[in-house]
Amino acid sequence: MLGAVELLPGLVRAAAVDDDGQLRQLVERSFHADAGGADIEAVIADVAAQCFTFQRVRGIGIACPGLVDVHTGAIVELLDLPQLQGFPLSDVVAKHGRAPAVAEHRARLQAMGDRWFGQGRGRRSFASVTTGETLGVGILYDGQVIAPPGGRSGAHMIVAAEGEMCTCGSLGCWKTVATTAWLRRAATAAGLDGVTGLADLVRRPEPAAAAVLDRYADHLALGLINIQHLFAPGRFIVHGEARAAGQAFRDRIEDRLLAVTSWSAEAERPHLVVADVDEDVSALLGGAGLVLTRLG
Ligand SMILES: [Zn+2]
Repeated sequence: MLGAVELLPGLVRAAAVDDDGQLRQLVERSFHADAGGADIEAVIADVAAQCFTFQRVRGIGIACPGLVDVHTGAIVELLDLPQLQGFPLSDVVAKHGRAPAVAEHRARLQAMGDRWFGQGRGRRSFASVTTGETLGVGILYDGQVIAPPGGRSGAHMIVAAEGEMCTCGSLGCWKTVATTAWLRRAATAAGLDGVTGLADLVRRPEPAAAAVLDRYADHLALGLINIQHLFAPGRFIVHGEARAAGQAFRDRIEDRLLAVTSWSAEAERPHLVVADVDEDVSALLGGAGLVLTRLG
């Protein structure tokens, strides 16, 4: 049995997962996002102990919503929970879960769930793409997950030389033009009131909605084109918001990818597939995949 822990701003979840990717046990507890570091540590410890005391696991993979030191498992940067800066996440989970623990950035870890339990099974290369309120890409290249220490997950790839200011302080990051926050702003600017997200926009009958949708697809394609040029993963496994946006939306992204990679006869033609794992547990499956990848 494999262990997985997911840390979110305000929630900790732990699961025991079998080798087929089925959840056999799930424990979760919420906490206040403003709580002190010691209080959050107590919640993490309690959830790990509850989940793994009777259901022993051979290792625990942890999905962290920010950067972690992949060697020590300590949190390096977590913008939504700054009080956890430097927090020894892996050590705390390992101690209370009574198994070796490893931690990884959530977006990069999702690729491991796809690799072992999802649309990436049996493949040597693919990219796993998170869309929606958060944006990121995890890459499997020639059998190896590309997750170098100090690397990030793609949201802050710069796609415009004179773009908008990003939360990270740079100008023109991919996330400034390809997340739900951008979509809502663009919809409002186009005279579409109250758009909550992509699924909502797809249902709007106004002509302006189609134009915003096309721009959003093009913006998502920008980052994926860079990934295709560098790693030629061929398969892009789509998670999150774009998963439910309809085939036409995904076709437009795919067309953009094909248009700029037609020169290569050697690379697999880029194509999008919708993730087949339950979104609600994809990070936990990624954690279980991390155990298989890193702990064997
Ligand atoms: Zn940025």
